[in-house]
Amino acid sequence: MEKQQKSSHLVLVMLPFQGHMTPMLQLASILHSKGFSITIVHPELNSPNPSNHPEFTFVSIPDKLTESQLSDKNVTGLVWSLNKTCAVPLRQCLEKILHSHHHIAALIYDTQMYCAQTIADDLGLPGITLRTSAATTLLLYPVFSQLDEEDFMSEIKSPELQALHLQRLRALLSQNPAKEMMEIRVELTNALKSSLAIIVNSMEFLELEALSKVKQYFPAPIITIGPLHKLAPAICSSLFTEEDKCISWLNKQAPKSVIYVSLGSMASIDRQELIEIAWGLSNSKQPFLWVVRPGMVRGSEWIESLPNGFEESVGERGCIVKWAPQTEVLAHAAVGGFWSHCGWNSTIESICEGVPMLCKPFFGDQHLNTSYICNVWKIGLELQNLERGNIERTIKRLMVDMEGNDIRKRAMDLKEKAAFCLVEEGSTSCSFNGLTKHISSASA
Ligand code: UDP
Repeated sequence: MEKQQKSSHLVLVMLPFQGHMTPMLQLASILHSKGFSITIVHPELNSPNPSNHPEFTFVSIPDKLTESQLSDKNVTGLVWSLNKTCAVPLRQCLEKILHSHHHIAALIYDTQMYCAQTIADDLGLPGITLRTSAATTLLLYPVFSQLDEEDFMSEIKSPELQALHLQRLRALLSQNPAKEMMEIRVELTNALKSSLAIIVNSMEFLELEALSKVKQYFPAPIITIGPLHKLAPAICSSLFTEEDKCISWLNKQAPKSVIYVSLGSMASIDRQELIEIAWGLSNSKQPFLWVVRPGMVRGSEWIESLPNGFEESVGERGCIVKWAPQTEVLAHAAVGGFWSHCGWNSTIESICEGVPMLCKPFFGDQHLNTSYICNVWKIGLELQNLERGNIERTIKRLMVDMEGNDIRKRAMDLKEKAAFCLVEEGSTSCSFNGLTKHISSASA
């Protein structure tokens, strides 16, 4: 792959949530390895640790989020507020960088930091957006939500789009009439339409039909560059401390026997759900590695509401941690299933290791990803509810029963296809070369 002149300077604008920061830092690392120098601009919230990335320059901008906005846990509201409060400091920061460096080859921003595109336009900078979710969300959220019923139905006639149950997801979206949601939808769509390129952490073969539709709606090239975590050198981007002890526990388990359970960085459950999950895991008799993030159980600090008798019934068969080195866990030979909330990063990470999934989506694009996993790629089962008997049965269906064999085989097939994207003539390698050329020509 080609190297750029070290003088090519890129500014990347981050959305301060785990599932957005990691792919942005991975993209930064890859572009740095191709010769670009990198400045990362980020709100104060969840600031990344600069000492983990000495090769980048970090600039923090004030986000002025209030205590109530931060404790609200309403992601839509936070995204809206960040775009409001960060716009002026971001503009000032870019003006300052331009003043001292004279040149910015491109401004690459998280799609949900859409305020960056307007600023890029005003300052005459090429704006490029990074979508850290499935490419299909580029349709569902800004485009399909605005079509009338007839146009919408004619857009989703293909079998793949039918299997995604987009009608249900569109209905869910239109149930959120909050002013913030409406405004985000309009501004994000405008940003996508003005950007010079749309980068997506996905792979062509995963979303073929949706991608061909996305290309009809947005003038900019759609560049699929996933799986970023496989291309980027291992970087430390966790907001939480990883507990490596789970790897020595995994080392003692039989191949493909363990169900790994993690609901990502934002989803939460109540105490009764924790209890149901605990008994479901215990009764399944499968070894399990369970991530319970501090604060994940509403009203509890950590796992103090686990039921009496649970630990005795599980013994050495279970390992509970606060945060795991997830990509390492998924690549471990002992892991045979992943019970996930189906965030996009977790989905891609699981695909790349050929691990079949148990899906329990909570909000947003997690429902779309679940439809892909269960109905289109058929590499997982959906957990319909968090009742202990249902959990026990569904874990057995995935990990033990004959039904799981086909699912496991398809998961391994997808793993192979994903690996193929990364070879020298693979689609991702080609996309990266295209992206660097694109940046160079835009900034020439
Ligand atoms: N993750 C991790 N350790 C954990 C749980 C999650 O490293 O114990 C990482 C995971 O590898 C992924 C990210 O956190 O990269 C979660 O992103 P995702 O899009 O799956 O979900 P979100 O947290 O945004 O809901």
